[in-house]
Amino acid sequence: MTRKPRNLNARDQFEREWFIENAWCDHCNAADLGIYKPSEYEEDGHVFVEGICRGCGNMVKSEIVEKDSDG
Ligand SMILES: [Zn+2]
Repeated sequence: MTRKPRNLNARDQFEREWFIENAWCDHCNAADLGIYKPSEYEEDGHVFVEGICRGCGNMVKSEIVEKDSDG
């Protein structure tokens, strides 16, 4: 499985902060704790934001679902 790094900083500030603040944590079972050291990557055609949960310190990742304009 290939994992391609993407540039999270290329997104606008609002979008970036939203991903950081709303990242889901399986360990805390909560979505609004936020993450440290966020990074974005693509794997198997899906895009994820990964980082360290501010609540429990575990590595977490959330898939980014891009909205299509014709959806
Ligand atoms: Zn957590």
